[in-house]
Amino acid sequence: MPVRDEAEKFAGEIAELRHAIHREPEIGLDLPKTQRRVLDALDGLPLEISTGRALSSVTAVLRGGRPGPVVLLRGDMDALPVTEETGLPYASAVPGAMHACGHDLHTAMLAGAARLLCARQADLPGTVIFMFQPGEEGYAGARHMIGEGVLDAAGQRPVAAYGLHVTSNKLPCGVFSTRPGPMLAAADQITVTVHGRGGHASQPHRAADPIPAACEMVIALQTMVTRKFDVFDPVVITVGSFHAGTTDNVIPDQARFLATARSYSAAARTALADLVPRLITDIASAHGLTADAEYATEYPVTVNDAAEAEFAVQTIADAFGPGRGETAEFPITGAEDFSFVLEEVPGAFVMLGACPPDRDPQDAPTNHSAVAVFDDAALADGTALYAELALRRLAME
Ligand SMILES: [Zn+2]
Ligand SMILES: [Zn+2]
Repeated sequence: MPVRDEAEKFAGEIAELRHAIHREPEIGLDLPKTQRRVLDALDGLPLEISTGRALSSVTAVLRGGRPGPVVLLRGDMDALPVTEETGLPYASAVPGAMHACGHDLHTAMLAGAARLLCARQADLPGTVIFMFQPGEEGYAGARHMIGEGVLDAAGQRPVAAYGLHVTSNKLPCGVFSTRPGPMLAAADQITVTVHGRGGHASQPHRAADPIPAACEMVIALQTMVTRKFDVFDPVVITVGSFHAGTTDNVIPDQARFLATARSYSAAARTALADLVPRLITDIASAHGLTADAEYATEYPVTVNDAAEAEFAVQTIADAFGPGRGETAEFPITGAEDFSFVLEEVPGAFVMLGACPPDRDPQDAPTNHSAVAVFDDAALADGTALYAELALRRLAME
């Protein structure tokens, strides 16, 4: 029976697991309930299972009956600090936590793929590592798992690694999207404190006002983006938090702001880390102030290997037929810690549309929204794609 049909056959069970995880979302690196559910779902399958030390990850290794290379499949498991407002029957029962990025689907699909592939163990020409990862949303869980040895879990390095991500908008349900090269942005954080000297607002010349200088920095950062960076190697800087002062007639001592910086190449990222702090401290000094500017590197660019992305596109076409896959024209401005895996192992990250059929993908709420809905209809497709990627990639060697 084709993998797709088999995934459809137990789609109900995959959805049950997904709903159970969705009802009790957990945030960060410590997801004990989610981990328990994954372990229960894998129970009885012919897998070598280990759990994380510093985080509640699950690594499962399936050794095929025939010799061959290793392939890694990754699904993230963590939720977001969002209070769910979907009103779904399986909505989060935990105030302040929601699977608003669809990682509950990834977890259930990867467990489903483990079941599909275990059923084919005897003929499997190689080994599959299933990477169930906590802490994608800002905790660099993938980097922690690499530190704890997930890439060496099978005794030899994977030849390829694949990650899947559902999206509640943009793509129609069941449509896959990937591209060669940069797939998602690098995301870094800029933290600025401008030090002035407070005083009476009516006598600014007797104080050192940090607010106009900080405002100038916000504008100068945007000018820097357009003057210092190649328009075809884009950079995005957004100041998302800006705080200074308490009332209208007091000049404060300090102004603080936070910004995110997105980029798509190592060169642009290196230039940002160099130029941003210089711009900030030079503007401060032009006003007779000082400033601390910290450029903290967070997630690198998620770069798809060209051959692996092409392989994923082919696999989607072969397994699902025409019209189900697209090669994305542009990368996405979001970021992913699967980037840390792709820095070590060639592979591809693939998006999967999960927009409910009664919504228009173009204006449906995005991932991370309190009203984002991911349709169960994507579950069997995602499960099948994980399994197909592993089966076909192992057979290639
Ligand atoms: Zn997310
Ligand atoms: Zn996500």
